[in-house]
Amino acid sequence: MANLIKSAKGMNDLLPEDMVYWHTLETTVRHLFTRYGFNEIRTPIVEATELFSRAVGEVTDIVEKEMYTFNDRDNEKASLSLRPEGTAGCVRAGLEHGLLYNQQQRFWYSGPMFRHERQQKGRYRQFTQMGAEAFGMVGPDIDADIIAMTARLWQELGLSDNRLELNSLGTPQSRQAYRALLVDYFSAYTDQLDEDSKRRLHTNPLRILDTKNPAMKALVAGAPSLHEHLDTESAEHFAQLQALLTAMGIEFVINPRLVRGLDYYSRTVFEWITPDADLGSQSTICAGGRYDGLVEQLGGAPTAGFGFAMGVERLVHILKNRALVPAAKPMDIYFMVDPTQVVAGMAFAEQLRSALPTLTMIMNGGGGSLKAQLKRADKSGATFGLTFDNPQQLTLKSLRERSEPVVLTPEAALTQLSSHLTQKA
Ligand code: ATP
Ligand code: MG
Repeated sequence: MANLIKSAKGMNDLLPEDMVYWHTLETTVRHLFTRYGFNEIRTPIVEATELFSRAVGEVTDIVEKEMYTFNDRDNEKASLSLRPEGTAGCVRAGLEHGLLYNQQQRFWYSGPMFRHERQQKGRYRQFTQMGAEAFGMVGPDIDADIIAMTARLWQELGLSDNRLELNSLGTPQSRQAYRALLVDYFSAYTDQLDEDSKRRLHTNPLRILDTKNPAMKALVAGAPSLHEHLDTESAEHFAQLQALLTAMGIEFVINPRLVRGLDYYSRTVFEWITPDADLGSQSTICAGGRYDGLVEQLGGAPTAGFGFAMGVERLVHILKNRALVPAAKPMDIYFMVDPTQVVAGMAFAEQLRSALPTLTMIMNGGGGSLKAQLKRADKSGATFGLTFDNPQQLTLKSLRERSEPVVLTPEAALTQLSSHLTQKA
């Protein structure tokens, strides 16, 4: 067993026992997004690197140090990257297929994202996001509609204790003035800034507010507050959004330090935060906002946008912790065959599957005596063992309860199983 190859750092296997949580989450999300009028879009995992440097921003953590970037084999100059997030690809696809200009469009997506981050609980190098994007609407009605959709998702999943934090970043123009105030403030305390923040002071000072370094918290708390420096229109937009959410019965807290890690946001930004303590500083499970400049930045006509992404691994972790998903349904049948009857037995098993499309049945594999097969049946977790004795006779036995096995003709076996399935449904 020497020399076993392990999965790459930060890239995880999802084992069969986890799937019930993933499927519950994915199914709930898919239904909900469809109910709100969003249509699924699937874009490639690999895109031109320039898409992300233009969309996410040159001086963000993602583009500076987290992307998996490589040259294509047949073109040394074609730089490609594994996608670190889903919005850029949605916009690129929307523009490429003419889905955005002068129209309203609602997309949702799901899939793996890649960031070369330090591995921690809830922070991986390959992780899954499900998200939604709406184009062509300046809000704040669509902002409220989409935030309400996320609130309903927590309700449906039994996670209503998530906390909603909101902020408005204003327009890029009004942010310039605020940026100058921020540089003045932090410049007076350079001795208290960590390495990242020193670097950001002149490239992207707003990002200092987003620091996860506890030693910086007090300094950040004293910084000038962004939403006191909003332009009038953004302030009005933000006030209307709050009024809408209140009318919809959605609680929120305003967090003036909320800036989000990506560059493309304008006006509304929001995060949902779980109270679960063991995710530590990885407690944000859903984040998004408005990005009215992004489509234009990627070469399209000016088009408003609003969207969010949720971290599926983090959500699965919470569902699992709280045992919020019912156990997977047991298999109906473990099918055994008398060793002298394998050909007829397997043919009958296929007839059974054709006649009963909802039946779940494991075929005994690897032969063995009936005694050996029964041992496997007992271990399998199935509800019944069904033995094919010969073409005239089968034996049905409960694997859960102590009851006498029942001998049946093939026709009677079919009727019996059919009524079991009706009861199950
Ligand atoms: P964080 O502040 O946790 O680094 P972020 O601001 O980088 O998150 P976004 O890019 O907005 O996050 O992604 C949206 C959501 O995707 C996050 O709130 C989180 O739930 C999830 N997410 C982001 N990065 C990772 C990761 N490396 N591993 C697992 N989930 C992640
Ligand atoms: Mg991050």
